[in-house]
Amino acid sequence: MNAVRSKLSQALGFDEIALESLPLDAGNRLRKSQIRGAIEQMRVFVVGNTCFAPVLAFQAWGLGLNGVVIVWTSLMLAFSWWLFFTWRISYRTDGRSADMCQFVKETKLNASLWCFGMVLFYPFVAGDAKTVLTCVMIGSLALGTVGFSHAPKAALWYLAIHAVTLSLVPFTFGILNQTSIDFLLGSLALVASAGIFNTVLERAKAQMRAFQVQEDLMHKTEVVDLMLKDYEEQGTAWIWETDVAGNIVNCPRKILDLLNLDETKMARTGLLEALKNSVEPDGQPEVIKLGTAFDEKVDLHNVTLPLRMSADGTIRWIVMKGRPQYQNGNFSGFRGFFADATATVEAKKHVEFLAKHDPLTGAYNRNFVQTVLSELDPAHDRALIFLIDLDGFKNVNDGYGHTAGDKLLQIVTNRLLGVVEDQAVVARLGGDEFLVFCKLHPSEMHFAHHQMGTQLLDCLSEPFLVNHLEISLTGSVGIAKFPQDTNQGATLLNHADLALYAAKRGGRNKCVTFIPAMMDGVQNRINVTEKLRKAVQTGCIEPYYQPQFCTKSSQIIGAEALARWNDDDLGFVAPDLFIAIAEETGLIHDLGEQLLRRACLDALRWPPRPDGTPLMLAMNLSPIEVRRGNVADKIKRILTETGFPPSRLEIEITEGVLIDDVPATRFLLEELSEAGIVISLDDFGTGYSSLSYVRALPLNRLKIDQSFVFEIEDPEAQSIVSTIINLCDRLGLEVIAEGVETQNAVNILNGLGCDVLQGYFFSRPLPANAFRELILEGIRFDFHQDMVRSKRVGPYIG
Ligand code: C2E
Ligand code: CA
Ligand code: CA
Repeated sequence: MNAVRSKLSQALGFDEIALESLPLDAGNRLRKSQIRGAIEQMRVFVVGNTCFAPVLAFQAWGLGLNGVVIVWTSLMLAFSWWLFFTWRISYRTDGRSADMCQFVKETKLNASLWCFGMVLFYPFVAGDAKTVLTCVMIGSLALGTVGFSHAPKAALWYLAIHAVTLSLVPFTFGILNQTSIDFLLGSLALVASAGIFNTVLERAKAQMRAFQVQEDLMHKTEVVDLMLKDYEEQGTAWIWETDVAGNIVNCPRKILDLLNLDETKMARTGLLEALKNSVEPDGQPEVIKLGTAFDEKVDLHNVTLPLRMSADGTIRWIVMKGRPQYQNGNFSGFRGFFADATATVEAKKHVEFLAKHDPLTGAYNRNFVQTVLSELDPAHDRALIFLIDLDGFKNVNDGYGHTAGDKLLQIVTNRLLGVVEDQAVVARLGGDEFLVFCKLHPSEMHFAHHQMGTQLLDCLSEPFLVNHLEISLTGSVGIAKFPQDTNQGATLLNHADLALYAAKRGGRNKCVTFIPAMMDGVQNRINVTEKLRKAVQTGCIEPYYQPQFCTKSSQIIGAEALARWNDDDLGFVAPDLFIAIAEETGLIHDLGEQLLRRACLDALRWPPRPDGTPLMLAMNLSPIEVRRGNVADKIKRILTETGFPPSRLEIEITEGVLIDDVPATRFLLEELSEAGIVISLDDFGTGYSSLSYVRALPLNRLKIDQSFVFEIEDPEAQSIVSTIINLCDRLGLEVIAEGVETQNAVNILNGLGCDVLQGYFFSRPLPANAFRELILEGIRFDFHQDMVRSKRVGPYIG
């Protein structure tokens, strides 16, 4: 039975309109809309009932059924109106199938009431009345079915009840009475029913299809809504919309926040006006462009605007996109995206900043300076640059740590900015090198550049307070002018560099302006470097020896080996210069090795002191050699090769070496010390040595720097020297003073307790043979006499 039913429902197309095939909530939605649609159409149905029922009653009136006619008509009208009122006014449904069942039930009851009228009256009426009765019933069928067609189930039941009655009753009469009119009327009803059935069914199918399309669309909209919501909640972009007048509509909270608006203000505020109020002054030109785009109704492409937040005063960058919207061909407003691009814009700005600035100090960087300099035009531009280098900054960095060094560089930048104010820009070229760049007006050609240079130096001379430590520094300044010094901006820096170099060589804390003669120096340096390379290769650089004299025993107790280079073209080249070049070029490693080997061999030939004690040989070890790491092995190898006793070798290191890398240096010094080599600290008192280094390292000797000895007559220098001597006494270190040039210096130093001395007073550095002779002859020195010298061999440079 069920199988037959399902076949039939399939054949008739009922399957296609079955609400059960839909998901529960979709089915409920459609059912609800069907019931509501049918109720909407109740007017037609009730009017139809009100008109047709009396017409039908009228056909049966006077046939002896008047009582029944009255009851039926009253019942019919009362029921129809009752249905009308209850459904139209109080009926509520959420589309459950129970509601539809109830609705269908009431529809069936209504149809049955009609059909009951047909069954009651048909047997009694005749002729035209029979036709009228059937036509009225067909009218009721049509009106009701079409009226209920929003709810196909109700409509079809209504139709079915009518169709069955309207055909069965006339056919039954036709068969019983053999009257053709009954067959005709029955057939008419059947045909009308079939036609209406088809219409209802097709409409129901169309309704189902439309519903499915709508459901689909709704689902898609929901997904899009969800995605948008998610997008908005993620805080990356939000949709904005304006109406025709440009007022903001449907705006997410986030956009209102960005525009400093609340919901009450939103409806009354034009988007453009809100932007004008919130956008920073530098973004206003973009707002004006935006206004034009709004007026011209053209697309907005990535308009980037800086918005000032009234809540906290911060700036948020937004990117706006949008396009005009049209409805039925009429402009309806704009719609688009607002994206918060703050992070991107800030990252971009940071990259741009880094391209031109030094991240540590915020000053401009080398890149920027080079670009600006290379763009200088000699025809129009006048410029001055001050190249500033901090003296001894490396020691600060190494001695107090990089954080302190960084802090100091920041303070230096601020001080320089304070000096130049808005007259110039300050750049940090790297490390401790700064540049002040001043573009001048042609009328300022006589700008007091030296005065500015001095101000720059002065600002560095005040102690720096870094992490509660007072650090004192000086700087050197090199000045170059454009276009006087060079008409190519790009090379201006080289000129300032030469001036800076001169300032440093001139004793630091100086300000030197470039002069063309400095260019010769460059050429000279290039020449010297080439020649030095050859000199090292051919072993032309030889050690000279300067005696170290003990005034107590009146004996030479040793000598310091000092490198001398007598070039065929250049003559004697100052060791300060060629040692510095050798250090820069790395030639120092070979040179140091050569000199040590030669000095060891020379010293092996020195006669011992009268009591048989051999003389000491002091060698200078460059910081560059120390840093290489394998220097201890190198020294030990040479000692083995030459057979020179380690205990006769003294290695002089400078204070700078100590600060460089204390653990590595200590390791090296311990290694040398263990090998029996004597270690002395050169130029003591000039650098940053602290007592802790002196205590921590295996030192044997301190060399008081020449600068104190030169000024030994000055009480302040005396007190420093006296302190150093006492210190050595307490730490068990030997002490030697170098740079002793006068009898008076000898006397004072002896008086302070220092009796090992070195200096021109005793002898200049001598070539190997001359030094050997000096040992043999001895230096006669009488403490009580003014000045008695045996012999000073010369003239040698020293
Ligand atoms: P330093 O190690 O401080 O050497 C002492 C310098 O003082 C030497 O200068 C010496 O000639 C000079 N001098 C000695 N007595 C007097 C004096 O009474 N009055 C004056 N005015 N000067 C005096 P020099 O030979 O020109 O060497 C300069 C620097 O070059 C040295 O300073 C040292 O740092 C470096 N140097 C020289 N030879 C070598 C070497 O073979 N290896 C290394 N690594 N450095 C060397
Ligand atoms: Ca030395
Ligand atoms: Ca020295």
